[in-house]
Amino acid sequence: MELKICHLYPDVLNLYGDRGDIISLCKRLEWRGIRSEVTRLPIGEKADLGRFDLIFIGGGQDFEQQVLLEDLHRGKDAEIRAAVEDGVTFLTICGGYQMLGSYYETFDGKRCDFIGVLDLYTVGSKERMIGNYSFRCEEASGGSTVVGFENHSGRTWLGSGVQPLGKVLTGCGNNGKDGTEGARYKNVFGTYSHGPLLPKNPELCDFLLLTALQRRYGSAELSPLDDTPERSAHDEMLTRLTRQAY
Ligand code: GLN
Repeated sequence: MELKICHLYPDVLNLYGDRGDIISLCKRLEWRGIRSEVTRLPIGEKADLGRFDLIFIGGGQDFEQQVLLEDLHRGKDAEIRAAVEDGVTFLTICGGYQMLGSYYETFDGKRCDFIGVLDLYTVGSKERMIGNYSFRCEEASGGSTVVGFENHSGRTWLGSGVQPLGKVLTGCGNNGKDGTEGARYKNVFGTYSHGPLLPKNPELCDFLLLTALQRRYGSAELSPLDDTPERSAHDEMLTRLTRQAY
């Protein structure tokens, strides 16, 4: 078995260790004897996005999000839309997550028109939402508890065409108001969680891998790994966050 992974816009969307998510995905495959191939697709480079099993898009500052717009609307937008509708697995973080929504209006009034493949939009605020945080994924997204790091000005509002990825336990999530975090549509997983997200959330990492493997091979199983260090990092942070919250 093998997964083809694309790191989209690694040159501009890669904040707070996001690249570590790709390392986690590959390592957890390798430890089970499953091959992976990672293709980096920076601004200006083309590839048939439909041939990938998993597409990763990291976070970026407002400036980088504006820089990539021209390239995005030169064809990648339609390709991303087609891949999403075709069930390709996506993990998208913060600025990359916002990019799959309709638009992002920065706090100083600049509007980035994005793809609109996810029924959501984002509006910036002067007050940033920063810090370690935690959320629980919906059952449809594996039901695991996730710890991560958020740093965003954008407040994201979900429409009726997407489900939240999870519910905020501590911190802000999508907007600091409605208790939702991230979004799930088909096999797209969007979240505000940097950190990187996956090394200390092995259950979510395996859920993503299984989603991609099942789409490619019809059925797939992942043998258990010894996650003692990953779990202790996860549990330590969750304990700290829960203590702080009360
Ligand atoms: N620029 C976006 C915001 O501040 C995304 C930031 C990020 O990816 N961390 O909302």
